[in-house]
Amino acid sequence: MAFYDDDYDFDDDPFDAGDGTRFARSGSALRAASKRNPRNLPCGTCGRPNMLTPADKHRGYQCDICARQAEQGW
Ligand SMILES: [Zn+2]
Repeated sequence: MAFYDDDYDFDDDPFDAGDGTRFARSGSALRAASKRNPRNLPCGTCGRPNMLTPADKHRGYQCDICARQAEQGW
């Protein structure tokens, strides 16, 4: 059993946005995709396909495009 595993269990992680959490990219709240957390779900706001991972969906996130629009008001 490998102690160091590339596939982190996001779904049961209580430490949201804590140190060590991998994000999709700098400035994004979305989780980085992995083998167990593929980016294969549509955004619930704009409907763009393959924008969210199951971990993102679990937290009720929307895609970066919608998040930016919500934050910037456009
Ligand atoms: Zn969206």
